[in-house]
Amino acid sequence: MAKKILVFSEVREGELRNVSFEAIAAGKVVADGGEVVSVLMGENINHLVNPLFHYGSDRVVVVNHEQLKSYTTDAYQQALLQVIDSESPEGIILGHTAIGKDVSPRIATKLQAGLISDAVAAEKNGEEIVFTRPIYSGKAFEKKKVKEGIVFATIRPNNIAPLEKDESNSGEITNISVDIKDLRTVIKDIVRKATSGVDLSEAKVIVSGGRGVKNKEGFKPLHELADVLGGAVGASRGACDAEYCDYSLQIGQTGKVVTPDLYIACGISGAIQHLAGMSSSKVIVAINKDPEAPIFDVADYGIVGDLFEIVPLLTEELKEVLNVKESV
Ligand code: FAD
Repeated sequence: MAKKILVFSEVREGELRNVSFEAIAAGKVVADGGEVVSVLMGENINHLVNPLFHYGSDRVVVVNHEQLKSYTTDAYQQALLQVIDSESPEGIILGHTAIGKDVSPRIATKLQAGLISDAVAAEKNGEEIVFTRPIYSGKAFEKKKVKEGIVFATIRPNNIAPLEKDESNSGEITNISVDIKDLRTVIKDIVRKATSGVDLSEAKVIVSGGRGVKNKEGFKPLHELADVLGGAVGASRGACDAEYCDYSLQIGQTGKVVTPDLYIACGISGAIQHLAGMSSSKVIVAINKDPEAPIFDVADYGIVGDLFEIVPLLTEELKEVLNVKESV
């Protein structure tokens, strides 16, 4: 049955995050021929409307407010609830990102609705929409459907492919003004840790290092390989605990959950807590000198050997194949 679905568009540093487009694709499945409405919140964000149409939104709700310039739980919760009240959707979809994880349970509680969180797929099965989500740290998957009430879900980034971009798509824009008050927190300034390159949670390629890299310097060849592949560098908790790298790189149960097209694990044993963060990667390559290392059980391709020999060889070979020019 055709439904109206609200899809939350996530903005970071003035750019739409990919998950906003993935959520539109999921919204199309759930809408089942109905209307997919993207909700765009922030300040001075009108230039972000067109990409939402290009990726399949039927309509875009724009909420311009100075208190929505940066995410705060209070302000976004208040604004989203007012949009939901004004639009009365039959479904809501957000990314399972830091923002989605924070705001969606609060909205679900206010609406007295159930929430299917961290879905990796949404499919139509007869008249029903079935969501798939990983459980037990990714060791099994469960299928969930909403039997009554609003269909409310968050989707894991990098799992549901966005629709093909069509720049001829356009649609109606609805401006909604919201009243934001009694804020308990106000963001005065954002000081970002200096990072370079690709965002780990949206990277298509991740080269990850474990305790096998031995020290901080040991990450250098991994960065070189990631640069050639246009990817990001990640790490096991072992490497973070040993202070070889920053905790912001940690992947796993207590770190980031990633789903790149290619995950190259270098000197990582493959503890269950690490696998929880990367085992859904599309192709896994493991480089480890221990042929019995458990990482090989989940790897599509395994190389037994010393990472300090193999990683630079791979980098050189890929530079040739990909025709990467040395920077002067
Ligand atoms: P190790 O297990 O020490 O493995 C190092 C590997 O490097 C070995 O397999 C070795 O053969 C290989 N190696 C060594 N030298 C070389 C070389 N020169 N070339 C090639 N290979 C080499 N871990 C996470 O990663 N993420 C998490 O989110 C996480 N959360 C946790 C939560 C809890 C509650 C607990 C208890 C643990 C958690 N852990 C997590 C820790 C996890 O259990 C492991 O201790 C950790 O993943 C091990 O990191 P590692 O594979 O880098 O190190």
